[in-house]
Amino acid sequence: MSSKPDASRPRAADTKKVHIADTQLTRQNWYKHVNWLNVTFIIGIPIAGCIQAFWVPLQLKTAIWAVIYYFFTGLGITAGYHRLWAHCSYSATLPLRIWLALVGGGAVEGSIRWWARDHRAHHRYTDTDKDPYSVRKGLLYSHLGWMVMKQNPKRIGRTDITDLNEDPVVVWQHRNYIKVVLTMGLIVPMLVSGLGWGDWYGGFVYAGILRIFFVQQATFCVNSLAHWLGDQPFDDRNSPRDHIITALVTLGEGYHNFHHEFPSDYRNAIEWHQYDPTKWTIWTCKQLGLAYDLKQFRSNEIEKGRVQQLQKKIDQKRAKLDWGTPLDQLPVMEWDDYVEQTKNGRGLISIAGVVHDVTDFIKDHPGGKAMIKSGLGKDATAMFNGGVYYHSNGAHNLLSTMRVGVIRGGGEVEIWKRAQKENSEYVRDETGQRIIRAGQQVTKMPEPIPTADAA
Ligand SMILES: [Zn+2]
Ligand SMILES: [Zn+2]
Repeated sequence: MSSKPDASRPRAADTKKVHIADTQLTRQNWYKHVNWLNVTFIIGIPIAGCIQAFWVPLQLKTAIWAVIYYFFTGLGITAGYHRLWAHCSYSATLPLRIWLALVGGGAVEGSIRWWARDHRAHHRYTDTDKDPYSVRKGLLYSHLGWMVMKQNPKRIGRTDITDLNEDPVVVWQHRNYIKVVLTMGLIVPMLVSGLGWGDWYGGFVYAGILRIFFVQQATFCVNSLAHWLGDQPFDDRNSPRDHIITALVTLGEGYHNFHHEFPSDYRNAIEWHQYDPTKWTIWTCKQLGLAYDLKQFRSNEIEKGRVQQLQKKIDQKRAKLDWGTPLDQLPVMEWDDYVEQTKNGRGLISIAGVVHDVTDFIKDHPGGKAMIKSGLGKDATAMFNGGVYYHSNGAHNLLSTMRVGVIRGGGEVEIWKRAQKENSEYVRDETGQRIIRAGQQVTKMPEPIPTADAA
């Protein structure tokens, strides 16, 4: 009797605790899943701007100013929010930190404190459920779905932001965030074009609202496009990718595979010819004495990552190729049996103690049928290795695919030794595939065997 209310009590408490994001989306409750404040900031206001743009003429000066302010506010996110505060990839003097906190606020993407915390979780838990903008939930989700729909803050991976809490600029910006957004997002761009050339409304619509929309969409691409489009030269186990288009859109944040590998590097693009205006800005700030302690990974470490990824690709390619039956899996043949089978019409040829069935290849032999037939049923090791013709690396590779047995006696011990070498760890890749290097095929003699004439 008493168990009934006891059982219902924790259940009732549980339903109270369930976050809306963890409940099924239905026709009745969908509006509860939507983060209406974010929808207003990233969808509603831009739409309002687009509508106003129909009757507000765009002046050239305002257009230029909007583009300049786009770069200021975009760099506030990339050089400030991202590379300075989220990753500490360099240090900035107080004036630069104040500037970046202000213009970064003008991009209307949340406070530094909130943004950097989520971004650290994104790096630490990339592609998992604890990644606040995991691309595994879809491209649109990683672009803006994660802001449009409510998220259970408890689900997002925990990160340490004690350093940010100790930065008075970060704390001040977080406390005064709405004032910063209104001032830097709308009032300042309007004041500049209004006081500068009398275009108050144009400054508000173009350098304010529509510029915010473009900066937001551009920087959101770091979470979506940079995890979806391009190459993975450093590691392909997670989604981050490198692509020039993403770099062009995101002020240089497009070399995202590199960035996830070396997040504390102040650069995203490591080649001089790659587009990374955020890196150039930080470097310029250093020359001006505003930034210092720019962190850079040693190129030795970067190259190691690149080589390992190349190795992985090579291993995958190698696994798809036919390298012939491994020596230790071949049956042992008596010499007499080998000779006998050849007499009976089977095209067998022994080279370096390994028997190959070349029956179907005789007609295709580049050196002619007669030459290859002269080796059938004999020890053709010397003939193949220079005695008659010094065969190419490709020929040794092709030959290995025709292996059918190993001759007992004579070279047998030598063959097993080589089989062991072929089997040993250092000639296998991480997937267990044997690595047969050029010139190291078992049929290959170390030195060219002198021709019959020379002997
Ligand atoms: Zn990322
Ligand atoms: Zn990052």
